[in-house]
Amino acid sequence: MPFPRVHLEEEHEMFRDQVRRYLRDNMAGKVAKWREQGHVDKEDFLAFGREGWLCLWADEAYGGLGIRDIRYDQVLQEETVRWTDSGFFHNAHSMLVGPYLDRFANDEQKSRFLPGAVSGETVMAIAMTEPDTGSDLAAIRTKAEDQGDHYLMNGSKTYISNGIIGDLFVVAAKTGEKRGEIGLFVVTSDMEGFSRGRHLKKMGLQAQDTAEIRFDNVRVPKENLLGEAGMGFAYMAECLAVERTMSAIGSLAHAQVAFDITLDFIKERTAFGQPVGTFQNTRFVMADLRARLDATQAWLDQCVMLANAEKLTPEDAAALKLVTSELQGEVVDAGLQFHGGAGYMDEYEISHMFRDARIARIYAGTSEIMKEIIGRGLGLGDPRR
Ligand SMILES: Cc1cc2nc3c(=O)[nH]c(=O)nc-3n(C[C@H](O)[C@H](O)[C@H](O)COP(=O)(O)OP(=O)(O)OC[C@H]3O[C@@H](n4cnc5c(N)ncnc54)[C@H](O)[C@@H]3O)c2cc1C
Repeated sequence: MPFPRVHLEEEHEMFRDQVRRYLRDNMAGKVAKWREQGHVDKEDFLAFGREGWLCLWADEAYGGLGIRDIRYDQVLQEETVRWTDSGFFHNAHSMLVGPYLDRFANDEQKSRFLPGAVSGETVMAIAMTEPDTGSDLAAIRTKAEDQGDHYLMNGSKTYISNGIIGDLFVVAAKTGEKRGEIGLFVVTSDMEGFSRGRHLKKMGLQAQDTAEIRFDNVRVPKENLLGEAGMGFAYMAECLAVERTMSAIGSLAHAQVAFDITLDFIKERTAFGQPVGTFQNTRFVMADLRARLDATQAWLDQCVMLANAEKLTPEDAAALKLVTSELQGEVVDAGLQFHGGAGYMDEYEISHMFRDARIARIYAGTSEIMKEIIGRGLGLGDPRR
């Protein structure tokens, strides 16, 4: 039995029941289609919107529920991973892109963008990474030149999640010549000069659309700048801590499900006349993973409470993402191994989970960058930078 989740209260468990029933009855059956076509449907976002599950934090004035308690987002993500597919990126929409609007949009911008985000009419994405740079965000080349009444945007982005079905993109672009002089802009897919490039084929996350996007002389109205020009780098640093917490929640949820399906499998599958789970090697590896999953879950749950209180530091979030994504990798690898040849077959969920897990150590900042952040927090920053 997993360790009890003491940070959750009765209302979170009631919410879990409600989400679980809905996903099991209405969405689990769509996963094969999503994987086949390479994206979820707009209708799936609209369905989440109807349930009130997009941007839970948004104020009632914008159609939201005004729930600023990440435990609900955690439950939503855990159940999504368990009953559907990690590739349904409603979490990116609500908790990776949403916080930029929540924190840096003014009232006029919120009233323009949030109602659609809450209802699911507008699917959101974040566009930071470029063909030439990902980890080194200060080196981006996409430019937004101040033209008086608008900014002229030119450049390209890659690996953008929700890039094919997305309608609204929060885009990081240079607003000056200095390194790291970056602004954040809301670009909508109907703007002239905005275009999508390839729908990128990936080794995992088949249900999720990852794409290239381009800006050719896009006239971005001044009213679409978030906060102050030149402050984008600081804004990203702030929101990336939230993104990494959410990424950690997803990683651990994924690891817990991979553990559970492996446990079921090794109790049934026999070799040499006994269930493969009863071999000492299998038992010890599973016992070790159970113990580490429980310890990590207890820490993550505490971090969720700290994030709720706005007390989770960027170093904490980096450590959390590092440890959960690495553990996720270990669990899916062991889980696949214990499935034997079946684990390599598409029809077994563990094979999808193995492929889906690999990206967790790369996106939202690689494991190496997480170690850089933690190391700098220890006063061990590289003196040349
Ligand atoms: C499926 C998927 C979805 C994604 N979704 C989005 C999205 O929605 N929006 C978005 O903007 N981006 C997105 N990304 C991009 C992702 O965040 C980047 O791929 C990631 O940050 C790494 O950047 P990079 O690919 O340029 O690797 P690089 O920065 O080129 O890194 C290559 C290697 O060098 C290492 N390295 C780099 N710098 C250092 C250093 N200082 N010290 C030690 N090692 C270092 C890295 O750790 C890595 O191992 C997505 C990527 C994928 C694959």
